[in-house]
Amino acid sequence: MTPAALRIAVVGGGIGGLAAALSIARAGHHVTLLERAARFGEIGAGLQLAPNASQALEELGVLDAVQRTAVAPPRLVMMDALSGDQVTSLDLRSAAYTERFTHPYLVTHRTDLHTALLTACQAHPDITLRTGHAVTHAEQDESAVHLHFAGTTPGLTADAVVAADGLHSRLRQALVGDEEPVCSRYVAFRGALPADRMTGRMSQHAASDAVMVWAGPRMHLVQYPVRRGELYNQVAVFESDHYTPDSDDWGTEAELEERFAGTCRTVRDALPLIARDRRWPLYDRLPIDNWIHGRIALLGDAAHPMLQYLAQGACQALEDAVALGQSFGRFTDPADAFATYADRRRERAARIQTNARRFGEICHLEGMGATLRNQLFASRASDDFNDVSWVWTPAPATAPTP
Ligand code: FAD
Repeated sequence: MTPAALRIAVVGGGIGGLAAALSIARAGHHVTLLERAARFGEIGAGLQLAPNASQALEELGVLDAVQRTAVAPPRLVMMDALSGDQVTSLDLRSAAYTERFTHPYLVTHRTDLHTALLTACQAHPDITLRTGHAVTHAEQDESAVHLHFAGTTPGLTADAVVAADGLHSRLRQALVGDEEPVCSRYVAFRGALPADRMTGRMSQHAASDAVMVWAGPRMHLVQYPVRRGELYNQVAVFESDHYTPDSDDWGTEAELEERFAGTCRTVRDALPLIARDRRWPLYDRLPIDNWIHGRIALLGDAAHPMLQYLAQGACQALEDAVALGQSFGRFTDPADAFATYADRRRERAARIQTNARRFGEICHLEGMGATLRNQLFASRASDDFNDVSWVWTPAPATAPTP
């Protein structure tokens, strides 16, 4: 610990918050992480980690731990959900992949990634982890930020605060004052189940270890193995015709059945095995420039919530965390560290946020649009990474001096 070490508070113990805590502590500062839930945890579903994320995990010192359970899929495959025909694929074991990307494409169970980050935070002497700390608001002056918590929990003072409190970020709401998150009218049903439950036609795809994306009109299904292949993750996504703001009575199980009724046999076989216990309405926001508010910076979904169609929300949060740690390694004035972090990250995150919406529209085309998409995608070779390369390649580590 250097004499100039700062006291940084990180609000939120999701993937973004844990990664930020680790990164800042590894840069030589004291971190207190504050999570509102009674226990740390993640939901029981999968997560795709493109090479930009695995590079970030390596820089955070946790890639080996994540790789112990993650699966490295050989291919990403897009199928037509109606005909059951392959549209296109990307070969993740091709020479072109290894020439262009230095790190692996992985799929993992969220809990496994979260546990790897949490374990590394618990082992770090300069990180203090606190659960049951729901931040209600922050006050700041020229020298510090004062955080207030729900209930009788005493407040906390830090030199600077990282708000990693997710899509509905309380701190963002107070600082940015923008609109509520934008509901896309799409909803996801998702979960991981024992892989041996994928039988018949479904077992062929499950055994291939590929990431399968079955694209159809206003719906899609994503499937891939996680946890050494012991579990199989499935995410069914569709647009509801019954969206009503401030109500949960849309995007129901009945609509799921209805929307997927016309799909090919393999997709219909998979449908009864999709977790139904909870549904996730899908939100994003438009990009913003003001990630920094004095001594408070936004990170992860609090800064750039995006639709999941490029599978980049967590990947971008990990990139944020690495960039922030590198900034705090160079500067001991939080203003300089935050400015450098935001300059490096803002434009790239905004571009991915915007393109995630567009790619969702492409996935969900119907009729002639879908036919043209399929023809266009089919003409691309499986080792042609030109379209995804910019997404999977993080911004260079050398940031401009402010
Ligand atoms: P969160 O995970 O939301 O964490 C926020 C944390 O802050 C929570 O622990 C919360 O309890 C805590 N918190 C909130 N308010 C307070 C408060 N007031 N005080 C204290 N603590 C608070 N991304 C990918 O990279 N790859 C994928 O394949 C992928 N698939 C997805 C599939 C779906 C269906 C969805 C919906 C998203 C997907 N994402 C994917 C996106 C990814 O899940 C998110 O971008 C990522 O989890 C955001 O992490 P975060 O830490 O910023 O926020």
